[in-house]
Amino acid sequence: MEPKYVSREMRDYIIEMGAETITWCMQCGLCTALCPWRLVPGETSEKFSIRHMLRLGQMGMEGFEDETVLFACSTCGMCVKNCPRGVKIIDNVRAMRASIVGGGVVPANLRPILGSAHANGNPWAGPREKRTAWQEGLDVPKFGPDTEYFLFVCCHSCYDPRSTKIAKSIVKLLKAAGVSFGVIGEEESCCGESMRKLGDEELFQKLAQSNIELFNQKGVKKIITTSPHCYWTFTQEYPALGGEWEVIHYTQLLAKLLEEGKLKFSKEVPKKKIAYHDPCYLGRHSNIYNDPRKLLASVPGVELIELDRARELSLCCAGGGGRIWAEVPMGERFGELRIIDASEKNAEMLTTACPYCMNMLTDACTSLNKQESLEITELSEVLAEAL
Ligand code: SF4
Ligand code: SF4
Repeated sequence: MEPKYVSREMRDYIIEMGAETITWCMQCGLCTALCPWRLVPGETSEKFSIRHMLRLGQMGMEGFEDETVLFACSTCGMCVKNCPRGVKIIDNVRAMRASIVGGGVVPANLRPILGSAHANGNPWAGPREKRTAWQEGLDVPKFGPDTEYFLFVCCHSCYDPRSTKIAKSIVKLLKAAGVSFGVIGEEESCCGESMRKLGDEELFQKLAQSNIELFNQKGVKKIITTSPHCYWTFTQEYPALGGEWEVIHYTQLLAKLLEEGKLKFSKEVPKKKIAYHDPCYLGRHSNIYNDPRKLLASVPGVELIELDRARELSLCCAGGGGRIWAEVPMGERFGELRIIDASEKNAEMLTTACPYCMNMLTDACTSLNKQESLEITELSEVLAEAL
């Protein structure tokens, strides 16, 4: 048997980058068994085991040779929720990635993404001056000293043509409920969530600092986020950097407005049998399960369908942790399993409350050629249609 070497220097670096719990792992393998990678076939699935990854981290990356394995985790949180030792697995993965990315080794597919976030403040290759292009013809209010909420629109919904419909729908809903809100616009930068998960700590710090300074300088006190990823980052990561505001995901605010009678859905929507997909960053990571369901159930005529893998057990769409930019062959996508889940329940529509999930589920639906029988939407679109 070959002796195993530990790079103590690298292990210390990984621990310093946030993997404080990496040594707690007792290699029981429960995380590997629960990981969605076990549910799909293919090369990455065969190579990726989170238990092995953690061992690699414990060894100070000694023997590391395959970046497809290091960047395979979608940070869904299923393993973290169930680890008997309380190992902060995602933080460990992030720190291990940082040890490679910080050393200048960035996987080829991620270089343009990180480059764009450095240059434009967003990972979607969108010029800064186009950040507000989605607002055309909408009369979106500007955030000012008398505005209650700052609406932070996820970069995905600023630049991706399909996703801009989410931003537009949320504006329509907030206006209908008489909410005092406004946007800042071109000076905003990406929240940096995916950049940090990809291991580019320096870029994350740069984006976060620029946002914190901007929001504070504008007098922001309350933020509405359109994406669960921004919500999670603002609530979980920005406070340690000096960014402390009252942050609310749009589904939480709309559910509250519905309860107070300030928001009403009066129109029936064409498709009635609607299944809800819990996004990992709204559900498992942020414990928001009921508000999206309350909203959906309040639309006249809607039959809310629960998928078998729901709430804490929700199946990841595979778009987190930077995986939204990964090229995954058809037949190996977690999202395809989600389409099958919804189809087996005879759902006419699968809706979710995250732009990344919407993106991944739409791709999966197309790759299974199910677009005719199953429509993929973001919840705000359904709600705006029911106003
Ligand atoms: S479940 Fe926790 S203790 Fe068990 S192998 Fe995974 S990280 Fe280690
Ligand atoms: S966070 Fe999700 S994808 Fe990553 S290792 Fe854990 S279960 Fe697997």
